[in-house]
Amino acid sequence: MSWHRGTDVVVVGAGFAGAVVAERLATAGLTVRVLEKRDHLAGMAHDAVDASGIRVQTYGPHYFRTSAQHVVDYLSRFTAWHPVEYRAAAWAEGRLWPFPISLETFEALAGKEATSHEFERWLSAERVPIASPTTSEELVLSTVGRRLYELFYAGYTSKQWARPASELPASLAGRIPVRTTRDRRYLVEPFQAVPVDGYTRLFERLLDHPRITVELGRAFRLDDRRAGAHLVYTGPLDALYDYRLGALPWRSVRWERETVYRAPAQAEMQVNYPNDHAYTRVLEPRWLMPSPPAGVSTLVREYPVDWAPGLEPYYALPTLEARAHYARYRALAEADSELTVLGRLGRYTNYNMDQVTAQALEVAAALVARLCPR
Ligand SMILES: Cc1cc2nc3c(=O)[nH]c(=O)nc-3n(C[C@H](O)[C@H](O)[C@H](O)COP(=O)(O)OP(=O)(O)OC[C@H]3O[C@@H](n4cnc5c(N)ncnc54)[C@H](O)[C@@H]3O)c2cc1C
Repeated sequence: MSWHRGTDVVVVGAGFAGAVVAERLATAGLTVRVLEKRDHLAGMAHDAVDASGIRVQTYGPHYFRTSAQHVVDYLSRFTAWHPVEYRAAAWAEGRLWPFPISLETFEALAGKEATSHEFERWLSAERVPIASPTTSEELVLSTVGRRLYELFYAGYTSKQWARPASELPASLAGRIPVRTTRDRRYLVEPFQAVPVDGYTRLFERLLDHPRITVELGRAFRLDDRRAGAHLVYTGPLDALYDYRLGALPWRSVRWERETVYRAPAQAEMQVNYPNDHAYTRVLEPRWLMPSPPAGVSTLVREYPVDWAPGLEPYYALPTLEARAHYARYRALAEADSELTVLGRLGRYTNYNMDQVTAQALEVAAALVARLCPR
């Protein structure tokens, strides 16, 4: 007997991609079976309250933010929100700097109060004229100049990706935020908030549907597949195809946690260490809680490491070679009309949570149109 008898769709993965697709399909009348290899829901967004009463995000800080109102409207059916204005700082040259770069960063550099106009003049003298930056280094140099590149970007990038910014594409750096005002926000999207009861609770509510069955601790392999149910896959494509075209390059992370009996324990919820230590940043999750316990905090240090079998794939490598390698796996998947691939792993792209949610809503709408009898 097939293990998915009576199932219309098998969804592999219970992160944002899998859970949102499962909920949409079940609500449209399909019977859905979700298989998750971990022993918990929520994928990378999983969180849990630790022994000190601090809700810690298991796989690193997850700052939900978006400009997409339809994503907020959809997720708000499953959670209320705790608004947070995310803030960060950077530790370099023995002191703390306002980060991302703003007028306050410039004042710290200049050692005196300054105006936006003075900062703009200084920036235009500093910027390295590069007409069409192709590398990450060129992009940053052409945006902020060498002094700020070396202070905040060069070291961080090479720790994060284990290669210098001169070997990474400009697309990696994206838009370098430089504010000539006193705007100290870490992120600029209009909606910035975390689920009030945590991400895990949001996923419990998403998947609480009579037509959804969830199996935790169940690693799906292609051999498990039987005819009859459409497959929605949100894991890595190289693993799905048993690495037959070679393993895709990923970066992974090692986390170190420390309980401290002072709170808050650092100046901002996130402090970056571009040039000191082997870790890239130190997070203090209590800043994201509506009512954190008094007098205690948990600090989390992020150490980027190369991916190896047995480690979690965290970040897709933003190089042209890696994308070309992925495209060969993608071609295999596209030849299979009963397979739908999405999410950060399946698409080998470092999406944010709102982007994955939007993608899942789109994919689910297309599947409903195809699979649901009218
Ligand atoms: C360190 C870090 C920090 C981040 N910070 C932010 C942030 O601040 N803000 C933001 O918006 N986004 C952030 N993100 C991105 C965010 O984590 C993703 O957008 C989101 O989790 C993607 O959801 P997903 O479902 O695509 O992938 P995942 O959450 O990875 O879910 C995929 C699931 O599939 C399961 N799976 C894989 N293979 C199999 C298999 N063969 N069988 C069964 N199950 C399988 C996995 O165990 C996993 O649970 C961050 C990501 C990382 C790595």
